[in-house]
Amino acid sequence: MKTFEELGVAAPILRAIQEMGYESPMPVQEEVIPFLLGEDNDVIALAQTGTGKTAAFGLPILQKIDVNLYQPQALVLCPTRELCLQIADDLNDYSKYIDGLKVLPVYGGSSIESQIKTLKRGVHVVVATPGRLLDLMNRKTVDLGMIKNVILDEADEMLNMGFTESINAILAEVPPARNMLLFSATMPQGIAGITRKYMKNPKEIVIGKKNEGNKNIKHVYYMVQARDKYLALKRIADYYPNIYGIVFCRTRKETQEIADKLIQDGYNADSLHGELSQAQRDYVMQKFRVKNIQLLVATDVAARGLDVDDLTHVINYGLPDETESYTHRSGRTGRAGKTGISISICHVKEKGKIRQIEHIINKQFEKGEMPTGKEICEKQIFNLVDQIEKVKVDEDEIAALLPSIFRKLEWLDKEDIIKRMVSLELNRMIDYYKDADEIQVVDERSERRNRDSGERSSGRRGANAEEGFVRFFLNFGKSDGLYPNQLIELVNKCVPGKVRIGKIDLRDNFSFFEVEDSEANLVMKKMNGYELEGRRLSVEFAQGKKEGGSNRGGGSREYKGSGNRNRSSFGPRSERNKDKPWRRSTSDRPARKKSRY
Ligand code: AMP
Repeated sequence: MKTFEELGVAAPILRAIQEMGYESPMPVQEEVIPFLLGEDNDVIALAQTGTGKTAAFGLPILQKIDVNLYQPQALVLCPTRELCLQIADDLNDYSKYIDGLKVLPVYGGSSIESQIKTLKRGVHVVVATPGRLLDLMNRKTVDLGMIKNVILDEADEMLNMGFTESINAILAEVPPARNMLLFSATMPQGIAGITRKYMKNPKEIVIGKKNEGNKNIKHVYYMVQARDKYLALKRIADYYPNIYGIVFCRTRKETQEIADKLIQDGYNADSLHGELSQAQRDYVMQKFRVKNIQLLVATDVAARGLDVDDLTHVINYGLPDETESYTHRSGRTGRAGKTGISISICHVKEKGKIRQIEHIINKQFEKGEMPTGKEICEKQIFNLVDQIEKVKVDEDEIAALLPSIFRKLEWLDKEDIIKRMVSLELNRMIDYYKDADEIQVVDERSERRNRDSGERSSGRRGANAEEGFVRFFLNFGKSDGLYPNQLIELVNKCVPGKVRIGKIDLRDNFSFFEVEDSEANLVMKKMNGYELEGRRLSVEFAQGKKEGGSNRGGGSREYKGSGNRNRSSFGPRSERNKDKPWRRSTSDRPARKKSRY
């Protein structure tokens, strides 16, 4: 591997990047820097964000600037204002020791007058979003006649955002003798048009395989029922107490709704979408950058250009409409050599899309197992213990208080104090999860089997039912406070008229009951999905099921027979629910302290 010096990077820039901690070049830098330091060289680089591409083009274009010539000599086009500011910031950092070098970010949504004024004073590098630059060109306030290097960053995104015409108009004004570099995470058709028209024998650089996602990213999907999507999101957030990530939603409305719910449920979250004003968006992004927000719920467009390197997770709250957007979303994590997880909470109907994405990123998704309440509580407890171990103690501040604290707690031994400290923070979480339903992770086959078995057995007697009766499964049991009388009451509450009920078989977490053949379809229709005190009844034909276990892989959770994922692992529910047998809410959550940072 070569050093920056061996790649030809000059002393003032070397000094700046060394101060920034760049010890050796990243692969894309090794390829691009020497090439762009030459003349008349065009490059197409397939590289994800986070691969070090800004320095790859930034260092050589800065090095080639003649600071005595007060004319734009390098032009960087990028899709968003945020990316524009980020690139300009990086270029300023790299050129810290080049006296007099001026970089101007030019983007929509801010005063055009002040940009014109700065241009008149003379700048060397223009970093621009296409629309605003074209506006300035039309006003004859920017001259591209001395441009020696043109960079198109995130070219695929610029095309997606409808900038093709503007880019064409801009490139037509740039002198033909110049270097041109096009960066893109993917290679859609439109890019070929630009390269044919404006590039001469471009060198193709592929960092990683074509269209391949970043190797540092693990891709996981959880397939859940639509109604469980939000609960699944909360579980994932709880399972990763130090999560710092973006939750991608498909629409502005959904973005706002999910963010509102998370905030209401005590999570450290906020929203970012196009209906917010620029000032609001800046404010949210700044809060997120400094980690005052753990979960940023965002639309694809609004999150573009938000350059944060150390995201632990990207969560796809449903898969994007455009499968290629997945590469951009997931590319927000696993940056700068760090590892990241891209989680997709999706519906069984999106299975096909997962396969398409796997093809694009050339990597397989892992099928996620939804963490159980018990697992989440354990994770939270160990995170808390970890924090206790690592917390910085301010001896001076605490010294005066310690004698009284010791006096007050002297009757407790070490073990007691530890137990109390941990419980203080975690009781609410434990309370919540011991009462929460486990979320069923579904898969395609089990969905189909469920449907088929439902259809086949409709109107027919269950395997173990009495003659003339149909046997049903119900997802409530003794531990929910359900006893024969209550079950009969429940059936009659849901189904109009008097239903004849046959054998009742109550188990801890579920039950079987029989009704007359003629009533079976009505019972199914009325009872399944019926909401009782915040919890939905799941009623299924019990045909083919063995008592206490299941032969249908993805059926109801109690049928999985896995034991360890069973909610009863939190202790005897019958005791807990004795007073309020039906009171179980899954929507509320223990409030979490706002900032963990
Ligand atoms: P980029 O792909 O340009 O967004 O870069 C991703 C991150 O890698 C940024 O935080 C850069 O500051 C950092 N970076 C770029 N080049 C290097 C390098 N050679 N050594 C260490 N970090 C780097």
